Parts: sequence; C-alpha cells; structure tokens
Amino acid sequence: CGVYGVIGVADAANFVALGLHALQHRGQEAGGIVSYESETGFNSARRFGYVRDNFTKASLMETLPGHLAIGHVRYSTAGSKGQTAIRDVQPFFGEFSMGGAALAHNGNIVNAEALRRELIDHGSIFQSSSDSECIIHLMARSFQKTIPERMKDALRRVEGAFSIVAMTRTKLIGVRDPLGVRPLVLGRIGDGWALSSETCALDIIGATFVREIEPGEMVVISAGNGVESFRPFQHASSRFCIFEHVYFSRPDSILGGRSVYETRRQIGVELAREAPVEADLVCPVPDSGTPAAIGFSHESGIPYGMGIIRNQYVGRTFIEPTEQIRNMGVRLKLNVNRALIAGKRVVLVDDSVVRGTTSQKIKEMILDAGAAEVHFRIASPPTAWPCFYGVDTPEKEKLLASRMSEEEMRDHLGVDSLRFVSLDGLYRAAGEAGGRTPGCPQYCDACFSGDYPVAPADMIEKGFKL
Ligand code: 5GP
Ligand code: SF4
Ligand code: MG
Repeated sequence: CGVYGVIGVADAANFVALGLHALQHRGQEAGGIVSYESETGFNSARRFGYVRDNFTKASLMETLPGHLAIGHVRYSTAGSKGQTAIRDVQPFFGEFSMGGAALAHNGNIVNAEALRRELIDHGSIFQSSSDSECIIHLMARSFQKTIPERMKDALRRVEGAFSIVAMTRTKLIGVRDPLGVRPLVLGRIGDGWALSSETCALDIIGATFVREIEPGEMVVISAGNGVESFRPFQHASSRFCIFEHVYFSRPDSILGGRSVYETRRQIGVELAREAPVEADLVCPVPDSGTPAAIGFSHESGIPYGMGIIRNQYVGRTFIEPTEQIRNMGVRLKLNVNRALIAGKRVVLVDDSVVRGTTSQKIKEMILDAGAAEVHFRIASPPTAWPCFYGVDTPEKEKLLASRMSEEEMRDHLGVDSLRFVSLDGLYRAAGEAGGRTPGCPQYCDACFSGDYPVAPADMIEKGFKL
C-alpha cells in the first residue's frame, strides 16, 4: 500500500490526491482521503479504483476541505481481497474523548488476529476485516490523554511491519515500526509538511525531501511545534524490505539513501557477472525488469532492445487479485516485438519469479515469435517464502521456488537457461559492498531466505512452519 499526508497548505486533500497518484503502483484496488477543517470537521471519501478516476472530480474534492489531510492507496495483503468491501478501504477513523483521529497503514500486522480476538472479547466493534483497524481499537482502550500517546500505547502491542500516516484535528503523525520494514519519508512544501511512502510522491507536489522517518521513530507535526520526534519502541537494528528495491518502489525514488533505479541497474551488473551467457539481445520484461536489463546489457556488452512491448493502459498484473485475471493479464499487458526477436538468442531480464505465470507466458510468446534461444535472468533470488509484512506473495505451496530447485524450474519453464542473482549479489547491488552479514542481515529478505525478522505469530498459530 501507499500512505501520504499533508499539513499546513490550503486544500491539502488536492496535494494528497496528487501524492497518492504518484504512489498508485503501491496499490491499485482502492484509495481514500480524510481531511479536517474546523467548520465541517473530519471529512472522508473512500473509493474503489484509480486515484485519477476518483480524486480528480471537483465535486468530490470540494467535500474534502482543509489544511490537513491524509490518504491511502490499497493493495490487499490482509482482509478482503480485491474490490469486495469498501469498509476495508483506508484511512480508518476513530472518535476518542479528546477528538477524532484518522489513520492509514502500509505493512502487515502479524499478530492482528490474536489482537482482534482479544479486542472483540473486550467489547470492540470492528467495522472491517483489515488488520490495520486493530490500531484504532487499541487506541480506544488506552488511558493516555493525547492521541499521539494513545498511538504509542497501541503500537507497542502491534507486531510486524507498519509505516503509518495519521492525523488529529491539528496534527499530522508519521510512524515506522522498529525495523523500518516499509518506507516513509518527510518533505517540506512551502510552510507545510508532507509524509509519503516514497520520495517520488514528494516530487509530484513540488515538495523537497527533508529526510526519512527513522525505523522506530514517531514524528508529530503541527503548525505550532513543527516536527517533534519520539522513540516509542525498544531499539532494534533496521531491516528495510529489500524487495522494495527489487520491485515494489518506483525507480525514481530514493530509499535508505539509495536510488532505487541505481540498485536495480546494479543488480543487472551483478547478474551479468554471476551468470554470463552468450546471446544476441538483452530484453527487459517491462517495466519491472528494465533497469536490471540495462545493467546486464552494459556489463555483458550484449545489445539492449525492447523485445517485449507493454501496453501502458494495464496495471500491475500481480496486483489483480484473482488467478484467472492474472493469467490473462500477461497477454493483455505484454506483447512481443517480433521484428526484433526473430532468430535471436534472447536474454530476458525480470525482477522476480513468484508463481512462474509471467515467465511461462513470456517464454511461449518469445518462442512463437521465432527466438532461437531463451535465457532468463532474474533480478532477485528465488522467492521461496511468503511475505507476512505487506507484500502479497501467495502461500508457500504456490511459490515455484518452494517446490522446485533452480534446475527443475528451468525444466518446468522450458527455457535454455534460468539464473537468479545470489543473495550476496543483491546486497552488493543495494550498497552493501561486503554482501549480506550472516546472523544480522542489513535488510529483510525473508521471502528469499526464510529468515523472518519478526515471527509471524498468527501464521505460526495456524501451523506455518519456519
Ligand atoms: P509470477 O508470474 O511468477 O507469479 O510473478 C512474477 C511477476 O510478478 C514479475 O514480473 C513481477 O514483476 C511481478 N510482481 C508483481 N507484484 C509482485 C509482488 O508483490 N511480488 C512479487 N514477487 N512479484 C510481483
Ligand atoms: Fe520485503 Fe520479502 Fe521481507 Fe516481505 S519478506 S518484507 S517482500 S523482503
Ligand atoms: Mg513484472
């Protein structure tokens, strides 16, 4: 998901809509905005579909006045899947004795089911099936006197990944979990401030990047006091999601002081060194494989070409919630550039293999177009473990790499060769010259290594084996 917030500028909701539009890649199912103005109080709008189709209408934006607003774009990793329940669309809102608060959450709470059971037993009335709603109910049960203090109380009970943007009548609040699994950045816009999942969404409103919210940090921003920083959690060493660099974030974002584009390009360089191949053409699987393909071509000296063309009017296939749509999705979205491919030995570079659907379809299309050989190079290690921290990987059994060795996957996909970047190669590309530090890795890489930095409590209770 993507989260965004603005304080201290007129018509804040318009800026939030722009920010959410720049974060649309983080969630395409639905979006929501809450704003506050003294006359009308809190106002909210939650809609299915793209930001540009909803939050551009003057009739809707007029209902969201004020100098303070937050928003969310949704990609379901917990709660109902797809466009089934508007009640699961964020921001969530709560009315407390000291006033209202709205909250937008990116990440996944791994003990949400246990918390929900406990809260329901104590009288909480849940409105949604989302894990994030627990936070509102935990806040309602806190005895603290201010909303930020209640949020701290609530979040100390929550395990997992959270980057949160919240608001009261007068304050914009940003929080990152102690490991900083999901990104969150602070920007300055005129006399106001913005919080965003990624820097690319600061650029769109002309805000300047100030800094990242640190792992384990809470910032409380108000007109009177500016940005106040708190450390509500026990210190832990940071474990930013390395898959944000591989796929999830936009390449024009800067995360953890690293250009996402540069990391992706460098993964391609590492791949060309680790898994060289004799070929005539390097093609990205657009768009997610493009920077790595550029790096692979540069390092190997094999010419780069656009052998697969993407229809720009189709969203991310993976994010479509049903298997059937996803299967069709590849052909709706990608087509082969026959004139370039025919007769060539082609290296195809993609970011990841999850179920293997994309690679399978693309291989068929490339061979139909007359390619002489097909070599897959993947810009991440084999995805063998599900993510419980806010990326929607399927159950373990559906992950190709959890059932098959690299060689079996190559046979299964029927390609001439298939190679993945090593975990150390990936870390080097992400700026860790010495690779992955065993025992205390610098990133979360659980979907590749099975090394989960936070035990997924609800899943373990259901029988998931680490
Ligand atoms: P597959 O077709 O193997 O199931 O999925 C791999 C494709 O899905 C890649 O092209 C990748 O760009 C895309 N993808 C989209 N969203 C995700 C995600 O959340 N996780 C992973 N690993 N890949 C994703
Ligand atoms: Fe990111 Fe993978 Fe960790 Fe999930 S398991 S947070 S996708 S690195
Ligand atoms: Mg892709």
